[in-house]
This record gives sequence, structure tokens and C-alpha cells, in this order.
Amino acid sequence: MKITDVEVIVLRHPLSRPFGFSQWWFEARTCCLVRVATDAGLVGWGECYGPPEPIKAVIDAVYAPLILRGADPFDNEVLWERMYNRMRDYGQKGVAVAAIAGVDIALWDLKGKAVGLPVCKLLGGVFRDRVQAYATGMYFTETDDLPAALAAEAAGYVAQGFRAVKLKVGLGLAADRANVRAVRAATGDGVTLMADANHAYDPKEAIRLGRMLEEHGVYWFEEPVPPEDIAGYIEVKAALDLAVAGGESEYTRWGFRELLGRRAVDIVQPDTCGAGGLTECKRIMALASAHGIQYTPHVWGSAVGLAASLHLAATVPDNPPSLHPTPLLFEFDRTENLFREQLALTPIVQRDGVIAVPSGPGLGIEIDQRVVERYRVL
Ligand code: MG
Repeated sequence: MKITDVEVIVLRHPLSRPFGFSQWWFEARTCCLVRVATDAGLVGWGECYGPPEPIKAVIDAVYAPLILRGADPFDNEVLWERMYNRMRDYGQKGVAVAAIAGVDIALWDLKGKAVGLPVCKLLGGVFRDRVQAYATGMYFTETDDLPAALAAEAAGYVAQGFRAVKLKVGLGLAADRANVRAVRAATGDGVTLMADANHAYDPKEAIRLGRMLEEHGVYWFEEPVPPEDIAGYIEVKAALDLAVAGGESEYTRWGFRELLGRRAVDIVQPDTCGAGGLTECKRIMALASAHGIQYTPHVWGSAVGLAASLHLAATVPDNPPSLHPTPLLFEFDRTENLFREQLALTPIVQRDGVIAVPSGPGLGIEIDQRVVERYRVL
């Protein structure tokens, strides 16, 4: 099988209502898809995490013409190294790696379709064929009473069957306190609650916030400090009893070597569509295992990224294994995104807070071409 064409497709839809987190506001959802065609007539799909235009430029100008056209998708590890090495001097993190990730996911989709097996089987097998999902939502919105709005949203997720939910913090300690208190009151103590600051704080502020989160029984505190500040992570982790999570802004085995080797987090969250794709995330997973750190993917994107993340999550070993291991909590973004809801002909859904890993060949989803055509901007 040979690659005949690599196409980067950018989709965009405006949001019916903007929402914000500690860094900026979203007005639209975008989606950067990679479509790899072959001489066997098979097509593989991948997705990249990050701003689509520069990612597309890297694939269009470098990876597709210099590395990928004419290559065999089954050489995905070789192609990974060649793509990385081609941009190594200029792009060891960020968009150049996210571009590799999207290609890599498409190659795994192709391999699975070629042999008629789901990607999770090819990745080494399935520890779980369904995952316990948590609802990611509770972003900031323009409203007179944000705590009440967040509480209502949280109660809605619990009513849908979620047993775990995550809210945004990072609005300043006083506002965070009011929001966390309202959300905890709405969920009750039986629901697992997580908080995500998207690196809005310095270590001192993060420790103060973390103590408040502990009072409300928060399970993990995500991205308390900027991703480059590994010493800050270690300070926060040492001062707090709750779990510290992070890693969605980190890339490749080399980036995670620092985060994991220095035990800067309790739970590591590489983004499959950003950190380097399924190939690289399996390596990062091995590093996490070697350092006794829990692994769960960061998930933010369309049905393609969601499916890839589910296949990967199926292959994460319990860490540590036991009769009653800590369950892997899988991120299920609940914010407005019709590419998550509509891009796959059969949408990926939760039932009672549980999502089944797709079981068809490759990623196990079929792309709805009408959605691609309707929302395509590049
Ligand atoms: Mg996050």
C-alpha cells in the first residue's frame, strides 16, 4: 500500500454562544483533519490539535511532499521519525508535532482498515472496551450569576448519568471559590469533581487555590501553573494532598521525559492529536508506567480525535494493577462542537457516564462528507 495523497482539511463553525476559560474566549470551533489516500483505495483520517492554518502549512509544505507521498502507511514509526527529524531544528513542540500527530492517527486508521481490525487491537490490545467518562464543561459565560449557571450545568451532567465532572478555574481565587462551592453543592459529594486552571496561576496562588479545592473534595487540580514551570509543578504537588494533573501542553517523549522523570504530576494528560499521535503517545504511556504516574488522554476535538483517544485509552494498563484499580477517567468535552457530534455518521455518545470504544476497523468511525463539505474553510 502506498500513500498517494495527503490533504489537510480545515472546518469551522461559529458558536451559538461564546465561552471562555482562563486564557481566552472561544467564538468558533475549528477542526484540522488529515485525510491520507492510498493506491489501495483506502482512506485514513487523523486530527491535529491546535491552530489549523500553521499546522496545515507544515504538512502541505514539508511532511506531505518530502516524507509521505509514495510511502507505505505500515512504516508509520519510520515516517514518524522522518517527519520529526525534518522539523527537529525548528519545531520540537507545538504545531510541527501536532501536524505529525494528525498524520500518525490517519496512518493507524489506514493500517486498521487494511487488516480489518480496530486500532486498539493493533496498538497491543484492550484493557477496557468501555471507559468511564467525565464531563468537561463549566466554562465561563457572560451571565449575571456565573456560580448559579455553572451549578445548573453540573447538575445537568449528573442527571445525564455522569459520575465525574470538571469545571474551569482561573478567574481569580475569590471567583474560583464561589464557582467551586456552587458546583460542589449541585453535584453532591458522591460525584467526582475536578478543576482545571489552564495554567493561570503561579505556584503560591495555585497552592492557595489547591487548599480550597481540597476542602471541596476535588480529585485532581489540572494545569495549576504554566507548563514550562516544572519546578513550580513540583512545589504545588509537594504542598497539596490532591492529585496534580497536567500535560496537555507538552509534546513528544522528550518533552514528557522531563515532566515524568521529575515526577512533576500525579496524572499525565497528553493530547493524542497534539503530543505526537498514537505512536508517540504509546511511548509516553510507557514512560508514565515506568515512573508510576497515571495516564489519561486530554481530549478536545472532533469525532476523529475522540475516536483516536478512545482507542488509546483502551490500551492504558492499570497503574498500579490490583483487584480494584483506580479507574481511568476519560475526558468527554461537552461544550458546543458539532464536529464532535456530527462528523461521524454514527456519533460517539455516553450512556450512564460510560463510552464504548468503537469496534470497527481502523478508528471505527465513518466520516460524514456532507459535514466536511458544508463547514470546510480551507
Ligand atoms: Mg485542561
